[in-house]
Amino acid sequence: MTLIIRKEGKAHWVFECRRCHVRGNSQDYFRALEHQQWHERTLEHATKPMADSLGIFAEALTELAERFVDSVASAFKPLADVLAPAPNRPHDPTLLRDRRKWGGR
Ligand SMILES: [Zn+2]
Repeated sequence: MTLIIRKEGKAHWVFECRRCHVRGNSQDYFRALEHQQWHERTLEHATKPMADSLGIFAEALTELAERFVDSVASAFKPLADVLAPAPNRPHDPTLLRDRRKWGGR
């Protein structure tokens, strides 16, 4: 039950919708009831569950997008390594072994 009407004091009736976090004060029960019925017909109350689920949906989507970016980044990491300029080292191992040029004495 999300819609609540209760008496908080003399001529102090409170209508509350827990789903929308809406509160209203009335002098008597019937005005609180009217307030409740009016609130039930408002767009806010009607779309509140949808908005909540949309919020969850948006969160899930954001998480999914982040994961997608991560996976794309990791998928392209080897490609980036390939595309990176080759280090300035000779392919010929005999030249690599020539320590006068490649790695000190
Ligand atoms: Zn409501």
